[in-house]
Amino acid sequence: MKILDLQHIKKSFGDNEVLKDIDLTVEEGQVVSIIGPSGSGKSTLLRIATFLETMDDGTLSYNEKPVVTSVNHHASYDHKKAIEEAMNTFGLVFQNFNLFPHFTVLKNIIDAPVRNQKRNKQEVIQEARELLKKMGLSDKENAYPCELSGGQQQRVSIARALALKPKILFFDEPTSALDPELTLEILKVIKELAKEKMTMVIVTHEMQFARDVSDVIVFMDKGVIVEKTTPEKMFTSDNERTKAFLGKYY
Ligand code: ADP
Ligand code: MG
Repeated sequence: MKILDLQHIKKSFGDNEVLKDIDLTVEEGQVVSIIGPSGSGKSTLLRIATFLETMDDGTLSYNEKPVVTSVNHHASYDHKKAIEEAMNTFGLVFQNFNLFPHFTVLKNIIDAPVRNQKRNKQEVIQEARELLKKMGLSDKENAYPCELSGGQQQRVSIARALALKPKILFFDEPTSALDPELTLEILKVIKELAKEKMTMVIVTHEMQFARDVSDVIVFMDKGVIVEKTTPEKMFTSDNERTKAFLGKYY
């Protein structure tokens, strides 16, 4: 089952062509990492997959159901119901945590499931407490984000994403605002989710982590996918651009 399928994605900002015919498929249970230099279009691609940004042309399907279609070389966002449905199937974790500062930890987690997904509040609270336990944050449910470390805030935002019971989780550089020790804490949580067969797309600069956790690594540069392959093949690639990029990290 293809959880996510993006085909022929094109996106420009003015005359800056940021995505040039990008294809990306994510199968159920797969972990796909996206690596590449700053400005290569990684965040834009995630933002398009999660409807935070619109594409100019291309198609987008969730669970093998077309959500955005290409009509006369323009992306059509007319399938409102399909978009709404799709938005209930993913979770998103950002670089800067993006927690609501005026909500407690618990309220940050339960807000969307209760308000958007209309689920039973008591049930959601119970699940949120389970998630907090899993994240090692049981004693923090009444804390406000500003009272937590960056690593703790990021674990809350992962719990918040998981509370939506997503079929796929997107991470955009989840550790790049964290110091090395807290980074390891978050990578461990993501590895744990991978073991549980959570479907994930992870934009990251943590190369060793990408190598360990991914089924597929996508290397993007200047709006194109240079290579899309297994970690083993990526890290022994003969491609000059791949070697030059990875060389900066090894
Ligand atoms: P990455 O995440 O790989 O660093 P981005 O997707 O953030 O790359 O950016 C790709 C390119 O698109 C960059 O040149 C960036 O300046 C440009 N860009 C991204 N978002 C916008 C925007 N909202 N308006 C104009 N240009 C943008
Ligand atoms: Mg980015």
